[in-house]
Amino acid sequence: MDTYAKQNQELRKTTMEHKELPGYRCLGKQRDGNFALSVGVPTGCFDADQLRKLVDIIDKYGKVGHLSTGQSMIIVGIPEKSYYEAKQAILEAGFDVRSIGRDVRQVKCCPGADFSPFGLQRTFPMAKHLEEKFRGLPTSVKFKISVSGCPNCCANTMLNDFGIHGMTDGWKIFIGGKMGTVPVIAQELARSVPSDSVPKYLASVLRVYRGKAQSNERLAKTLARIGFNQFKKEVVEKLELPYDDLIRLAKELRERQKLSGCIAPLG
Ligand code: SF4
Repeated sequence: MDTYAKQNQELRKTTMEHKELPGYRCLGKQRDGNFALSVGVPTGCFDADQLRKLVDIIDKYGKVGHLSTGQSMIIVGIPEKSYYEAKQAILEAGFDVRSIGRDVRQVKCCPGADFSPFGLQRTFPMAKHLEEKFRGLPTSVKFKISVSGCPNCCANTMLNDFGIHGMTDGWKIFIGGKMGTVPVIAQELARSVPSDSVPKYLASVLRVYRGKAQSNERLAKTLARIGFNQFKKEVVEKLELPYDDLIRLAKELRERQKLSGCIAPLG
């Protein structure tokens, strides 16, 4: 086996062991021994002032900024000794440090009706709202949300755990999509959903998923195990339940994440 393939095998083994550990993690150790920090960029939009601040942080602490597929900015190449200082600088610049653990992740969205000529619904306020309410809520494994402004689904609506796309009469909601070694296309949960009702669908999906999922089980697998129709039935039954408990828990966890050093996987 050549050196690169061997290195890859070792890296994969370490990653798999790392994934088994409980708790969220907010940084990754790179192959070269340096660290990476994931900077939250809600809706994937920066203004010039925010961009300048990030440039300064990359310049001072890291090597490059990489735009992740989930629309975060990952600053890579941070030496271990500078990690806490870099994290503090990110927080002081008004950004959040994002999780890479088992919880509801940053919401990904396309430009939607604000900028795209095809947009049927506004994605920015929807993505911001869902993120403010649910990001950080613990789940069995990562939970990804995506918002597209029309059926073109440029934000990969059907490859996320909870994906929505705009229609002329509201939103279509899909659940159980994922990428990975065995990609799964999401299934339609509801259509013609008004903007105000989308959060209660997400809350209900999260409530049922949190109750049903086995350890380390992505929603696609939960659906395959218990059946989409059964899952949907339970989501509909719980649709009108208040979900302040989920919002409170997500907020609490986000605060904890902000305060923690989390330079290594948390137990
Ligand atoms: S999904 Fe539709 S609204 Fe969003 S960027 Fe693509 S074409 Fe535009």
